[in-house]
Amino acid sequence: MNIDLKNLTLEEAGKALKEKKYTSVELTTAYLENAKKENPRLNAFAELFDDALEHAMIADTMIASGKGYALTGIPIALKDNMLVKGKISASGSKILLNHRAVYDGTVAAKLKAQGAVIIGRTTMDEFAMGSSTETCVYGPAKNPHDITRVPGGSSGGSAVAVAAGMSLAALGSDTGGSIRQPAAFCGIVGLKPTYGAVSRYGLHAMASSLDQIGPFGRTVRDTEILFHAISGYDKNDSTSVPDDHTLKTAKKHKDKLTIGVPKSFIEIDGIDKDVRENFMATIEKLKLAGHTIKEIELPSLPKALAVYYVVMPAEVSANLARYDGIRYGYSKDAEKLMQVYTESRGEGFGKEVRRRILLGTYVLSAGYYDAYYNKAVAVRRLISEELDRAFNDVDVIATPTTPSPAWKMGEKTADPIQMYLGDIYTVSANVAGIPGISVPTGTLLRDGVALPAAIQFIAAAFQEQFLFQAGTAVEAL
Ligand code: GLN
Repeated sequence: MNIDLKNLTLEEAGKALKEKKYTSVELTTAYLENAKKENPRLNAFAELFDDALEHAMIADTMIASGKGYALTGIPIALKDNMLVKGKISASGSKILLNHRAVYDGTVAAKLKAQGAVIIGRTTMDEFAMGSSTETCVYGPAKNPHDITRVPGGSSGGSAVAVAAGMSLAALGSDTGGSIRQPAAFCGIVGLKPTYGAVSRYGLHAMASSLDQIGPFGRTVRDTEILFHAISGYDKNDSTSVPDDHTLKTAKKHKDKLTIGVPKSFIEIDGIDKDVRENFMATIEKLKLAGHTIKEIELPSLPKALAVYYVVMPAEVSANLARYDGIRYGYSKDAEKLMQVYTESRGEGFGKEVRRRILLGTYVLSAGYYDAYYNKAVAVRRLISEELDRAFNDVDVIATPTTPSPAWKMGEKTADPIQMYLGDIYTVSANVAGIPGISVPTGTLLRDGVALPAAIQFIAAAFQEQFLFQAGTAVEAL
């Protein structure tokens, strides 16, 4: 079988399967073989599922009987924080190393119903907290463009799997950039959907008001296909949005877009010069392609990072309270109940997770609640309102996805603030609950190695189609 795994798109594979150029068993075998070969070097997978070929066989039967969907027979990797019945789902944490899912999360159920082949679970920062995949209990994933560099995070394994041809597509979760940033660092496309568009049922919660599942693909079109396959109302997720609301809100496709560029946000300190130049060059080309570029001011946007690093840990501290050494996961035997709690949590959680639980508990504690948590919630609203107003004038807002290209492994592990600052462009979409996409825009040179660069577009809630349109326009430049 000669399939170009590094360049094949989901769209092309779907067509080839339908035309019987190859079977899903052949396609899945090819990806599994490459994943086995590459994993010792790149560590994208925590586990490859041993029943993948059985699912590929089922998919082939579906296709043969003419009952195929866009995803039937397509190998897809899932981040380690999504439940797949019967499989371990550890969220990259020691505390859940032996946690086996007793039911399918909604995205897994939807993929299965459409005949997709879930080929494995991917490495991630512990409980999705991080930007480098270095805190994963299974070890760090490596950037396929330069294995001395991080692939981004927290969904690093999913991004690497797609970039290195170890899976045709993948799902990740994005609480503050964890799909878009690793997509940017690995040179592929990543979409964070509107909050409520994709069910979170069966996703290990990190920060519930910010978490959202979304796709990684080689092309914008691939993420669009996958997004449509996993989105939709779900009664099992109380924040899931009814389909008629989504349909009613979505605006019509436009031939040319109006793209807002928040100039001063792109000129703030700490942004890599090459990143800025690459971004401005892309904007210039979009203008030449006939799109309208509009300079806009969004004074509250830089504050989104501070808001995020108060609201997120607050929700983390509440969500992770369930891991008590009794009901779930790692448990340390001790004489006193309190000791069981503290020792199970102390040993089961890694340093970054404990840091965030402490920070979150602090901002929620009596006496500090008003000064930190309530203040952050108020600024969150201001940011949302500012963005809402901006979207009266523009269809999408463009920024770089990240302020720098992929950094060296270990470079930021000792300095969490440096790591957090890298989220400056991505967190506002989560804070405001709106969708964002990261699309590759060529490369930048670092130590003689070409590293991927990327642009991010964000749009108003339920306007994903503008993101696909803007992303496709960038691919055509
Ligand atoms: N890098 C961000 C953080 O560390 C985003 C994480 C995410 O989106 N899950 O919190």
